[in-house]
Amino acid sequence: MPGPLKPAPAAPNGLNPNSAFYKAREKVHPKKVEGPFRLFKWAVLFLTLGIYYITPWLRWDRGEFSPDQAVLVDLANRRFYFGPIEIWPQEFYYVAGLLIMAGLGLFLVTTSVGRAWCGYACPQTVWTDLYMAVERWVEGDRNDRIKLDKAPMSAEKLAKRTTKHAIWLGIAVLTGGAWVFYFTDAPTLLRELLTGQAPFVAYATIGVLTFTTYSLAGLMREQVCTYMCPWPRIQSAMLDEDSFLVTYKAWRGEPRGSVKSAEAAPGTIGDCVDCMACVNVCPTGIDIRNGPQLECITCALCIDACNDVMDKLGRPRDLIGYTTLKRDVAESKGETLAPMWKVIARPRVLIYGAVWAAIGIGMLVVLAGRSRMDISVAQERNPVFVVLSDGDIRNSYTVKLLNKEHRPREFDLTVSGLDNARLSLPVSGEAPAKRLRLKVRPDGVDTYRVQVRVPAASIEDEQSEIVFKARAADGDGDTMETTRFTAPEREDDGDQE
Ligand code: SF4
Ligand code: SF4
Repeated sequence: MPGPLKPAPAAPNGLNPNSAFYKAREKVHPKKVEGPFRLFKWAVLFLTLGIYYITPWLRWDRGEFSPDQAVLVDLANRRFYFGPIEIWPQEFYYVAGLLIMAGLGLFLVTTSVGRAWCGYACPQTVWTDLYMAVERWVEGDRNDRIKLDKAPMSAEKLAKRTTKHAIWLGIAVLTGGAWVFYFTDAPTLLRELLTGQAPFVAYATIGVLTFTTYSLAGLMREQVCTYMCPWPRIQSAMLDEDSFLVTYKAWRGEPRGSVKSAEAAPGTIGDCVDCMACVNVCPTGIDIRNGPQLECITCALCIDACNDVMDKLGRPRDLIGYTTLKRDVAESKGETLAPMWKVIARPRVLIYGAVWAAIGIGMLVVLAGRSRMDISVAQERNPVFVVLSDGDIRNSYTVKLLNKEHRPREFDLTVSGLDNARLSLPVSGEAPAKRLRLKVRPDGVDTYRVQVRVPAASIEDEQSEIVFKARAADGDGDTMETTRFTAPEREDDGDQE
């Protein structure tokens, strides 16, 4: 049997070949803290979780034939409902626009105020914060939890652990449950879930999301931000010396020392009393006094903790504060600081903001002016044209008419671009006319084969541009599409009918 590993001689690169590749996790026991940033975090937590859990239960009256759920991703019918807005699959560019806006918004926030998304609004942060609050409520604050971790198993420890994990699981189930309600009528699905009649995929989705919520927010916590999330690495590229970060003002805090040593040698000791309050409240377990770090999610709880210490000592606040690298250097030299608006309203931020606003306004304009109907026209190729016995030329087209309203409608179809063009349906037996009235089913597409007949005298070229226009018979909207009309070459009479 091999003996225990002995320290190996250092490799030429200086690394010990027996050392572990990954550092073992040191469990973080964040301490309770109070202050304005903590209050703000509570507000964001309640707001975001409230929106997430309540939204599927909000109703929106869209009339008799439409679902009344305010926000609904109707996969079966390939629709997305958002209040009065209904997005069809062919309008997916709206969703793409929203995603682009979300990405740009993240750039904008990061460039101006650093990792505010990570610190306050990221789902991982919000749910972890909620899970930590439950843990604190059940097992006590930092010292109690450390003691409980070290204590041997007892009835009390078992009861506390069981209660904590049961509440965590309950939150995880509710989180998965809320998600599936976005995809179908929430009250109906809840009834089906409770009576065991919901589709398997609903139970499976809740199961997966229960597992991920419980493990990511309850067990893995800060490791998700440190090791799994790519965003901290991407953000580093967006930050510059004018980005706001949670910063320890080393020029003011160092050399750190106790109150006693400061009193014994006035003027030689900095403001930091090395009380570790900032480290103990940190949800990622880092020491902000070591400078900016990848693990720092910029939650600002260390600012609250340190300000509390400074207040008690009667020293100025903001030894740890939100500031930029440039302002920190200027402050350390006693220089006058530029006004805050100048730091925030710099070109990079303004450009991100302008692009973001332009996309948003563009989408609103397109949304406001979009038609509730659509047309698509395809020219038939076999044959491309027919020369009729009276000399007229005829082309055939497949016309698809889309009615986005939840009531049957009639559309008047006309064609322009060639004089005296007339339309007919081959199956109707009616004489060609300048206008065809076509019925279209509610909330769907109807396809018609349409023939266009044009006197030879009206045609100059082999290929002419024509425009099909569909106009709602009730006058409520129109839509058009351009296509080609093909005629024979002068010396070629084409197929004769
Ligand atoms: S809370 Fe403030 S005083 Fe205490 S260790 Fe941190 S920086 Fe120093
Ligand atoms: S160092 Fe401060 S701001 Fe950064 S994660 Fe820790 S508590 Fe939050």
